[in-house]
Amino acid sequence: MAADTPSKRTSWNRHEWIQATGERLRATQQMGLIEQLQCKRCGRDFIDVFSTGDRKAVFVSILSFWILAPEVAERWSEACPGRHLESDDEDRNQRTVEIRPSLALSKIGTPTCRSFA
Ligand SMILES: [Zn+2]
Repeated sequence: MAADTPSKRTSWNRHEWIQATGERLRATQQMGLIEQLQCKRCGRDFIDVFSTGDRKAVFVSILSFWILAPEVAERWSEACPGRHLESDDEDRNQRTVEIRPSLALSKIGTPTCRSFA
């Protein structure tokens, strides 16, 4: 799956991303800079890997992203189903590699001055 150019990244294969580009950037040790994308129609998550131009199907946990199995990536590279699919929950269990944002660099792309004190 190839990532789109920045101007085309608001949608892909009929998926509609919840946030526009630039707001979900993460620095990771394994893959360098990545950006998280989530479709508001079907709820699927992807990451764009800037160093390779790849777009990967992922499961998002609180602390990390999990690259999903190749057959899931294959299914998820098809057009957006337009709704949440029950089979996607199964797909999200087929995790392969964990990608952890590095703490030192994770402030990239996060809002500043966020205080709940
Ligand atoms: Zn979608």
